[in-house]
Amino acid sequence: MRTRFAPSPTGPLHLGHAYSAILAHDMARRAGGEFLLRMEDTDLGRSKPEWEALIREDLSWLGLRWDGPVHRQSGHIPDYNSRLETLADSGLLYPCSCSRADIRNAASAPQEGVAHQIYPGTCRHRPMSDRKPGDALRLNLGRAFDQIDPDALVFTETGECHRGQHRISRAKVVSEIGDVVLSRKGENIVAYFLASAFDDADQRISHVIRGEDLFGFTPVQVILQHLFGLPTPIYHHHRLIRDAAGKRLAKRDDARAISKYRAEGASPADIRRMVGLA
Ligand code: GLU
Repeated sequence: MRTRFAPSPTGPLHLGHAYSAILAHDMARRAGGEFLLRMEDTDLGRSKPEWEALIREDLSWLGLRWDGPVHRQSGHIPDYNSRLETLADSGLLYPCSCSRADIRNAASAPQEGVAHQIYPGTCRHRPMSDRKPGDALRLNLGRAFDQIDPDALVFTETGECHRGQHRISRAKVVSEIGDVVLSRKGENIVAYFLASAFDDADQRISHVIRGEDLFGFTPVQVILQHLFGLPTPIYHHHRLIRDAAGKRLAKRDDARAISKYRAEGASPADIRRMVGLA
């Protein structure tokens, strides 16, 4: 078993991250496997070396040791770009100039239970040769799906909320995920889906252990793996740690930062107890 913890160094680790990291670490160690650390720092504007330093300090304090060097995504941008080029050459990308407001206005009524606005496909007809400075690149998800044997599009989930085999349906990905942005101009150049799916393969991760909030986008990653002939890991999406009001903890919830608990005298065992992993 080979797992990883893949934080974005854009803020302090909070209880939710601690839960994810401890779970992945303990599952690997119990199986005699490995636990890797990856910094998802492709958001060049918000990622800071100070946050990475604090994350490493917090993990060490929690007693989590990672195997091998830290994998930093910012050091692999040319690799992601060359894969984007491959997708473009296969006719799977198109340039998009729509703003969030354009997308909201063009879309029909917001869909119940869908966490993000589905892109209505306004720019789907545009060829790559029409790319203008400032355009994002979107994946033509329906076309990508059609290039893969649909029987191969399955993944195994071992997390408590969605345990089982999941078959990826074309109709569902097109209507519930839509043509996602894989690359944009500016500081957050490569989308999370792309970088993280390739890194899981490059780092030979056997079990992706991460928050339940990312479950819905897993099909896009599985589709990308198939387009590039990469293996699909086993997925384990865990419950989220919520605040007293039931809201998922976010980076800005500094009140639950591990460093704050540390400063107040909590022990690593206290943190394990707080997240239910004692
Ligand atoms: N970087 C993502 C986050 O901090 C995690 C991505 C993943 O585990 O696949 O939420």
